[in-house]
Amino acid sequence: MRVAFLGMGIMGRPMAANLVKAGHEVSTWNRSAGKNVEGARTASSPADAATGAEVVWMCVSDTKAVESVLFGPDGAEQTLATGMIVADSSTISPSATLRFAERLKARGADYVDAPVTGSKIAAESGSLIFMAGASDAALARLQPLFQAMGKQVFHMGETGKGQATKLAMNLQIALIYEGFAEALTLAAKLGVDLEKMLPLVQASMVRSGVVDYKAPFILKRDFSPNFPLRLMLKDIHLALDAAKEARVRLPGLEAVEEVYDLAAEEGQKDLDYAATLTLLEKWAGVEVKAAS
Ligand code: NAP
Repeated sequence: MRVAFLGMGIMGRPMAANLVKAGHEVSTWNRSAGKNVEGARTASSPADAATGAEVVWMCVSDTKAVESVLFGPDGAEQTLATGMIVADSSTISPSATLRFAERLKARGADYVDAPVTGSKIAAESGSLIFMAGASDAALARLQPLFQAMGKQVFHMGETGKGQATKLAMNLQIALIYEGFAEALTLAAKLGVDLEKMLPLVQASMVRSGVVDYKAPFILKRDFSPNFPLRLMLKDIHLALDAAKEARVRLPGLEAVEEVYDLAAEEGQKDLDYAATLTLLEKWAGVEVKAAS
């Protein structure tokens, strides 16, 4: 298929590379220059990338960024053709998603919100999990692209339900990681060896995908960004905003928001969200590390 891919960040670039690998004809665009994908055409604007494409796929930071690549100067909307599908793997506001979809539908284009879970490693290995808000027809047309970039697609309902689900997923990741990080900090302060603690966590009902993914990085004290803290904080804000609109109380997430706010103030926003551990360590006056 002819695909325009907008956003060559941690996630978008390997996703576009996997589309090229699967034989699709890909045009890429990124706001700042120099992030190209071998085998893809580098476009000069979102509108240029979308020219002649069957599908425009986005993976940019936030709601404002999606609005800008679609509807800003040289936005993809300018070269949209009837029958095109716009798919969004960014994590953004569900209510803004509905507005964007309406505007594009008026231009004859279908809209699929398809945020992902799996982070950098799954983006690179083509094993992302998508949660889609879409019509059956649009979802079916995108199958070859989903297959090139991921291992599973969950159809959550109509447009907007993918983003709504994603917020509920990241709420859990933020809370699970916070629980893990707080537990490690307390254990370290009480003199428990990390290398003894981790196998116990993995053997017990405490085990989780979040722990599986993050534990090796913590052991190496590697807080380089797989999922930058600033983006998790953005998702926490999105979830709290959606909860406010829906009159739902989320006291646990509100407490975690404060930890992320303070970590961001401490200059950690471009590190992985796992770096919030170092703030807990600082407060406790301890470092979580293996004794050996
Ligand atoms: P990233 O590495 O920070 O990349 C962000 C991308 O968005 C870059 O291409 C950036 O362009 C572009 N961008 C930012 N603001 C823009 C604007 N105003 N106009 C146009 N482009 C703009 O982020 P990422 O980790 O790839 O994440 C992308 C999306 O996927 C986010 O919504 C994130 O929440 C979601 N996500 C990430 C992960 C993960 O583990 N990393 C997992 C699931 C979902 P520049 O290069 O010019 O800055």
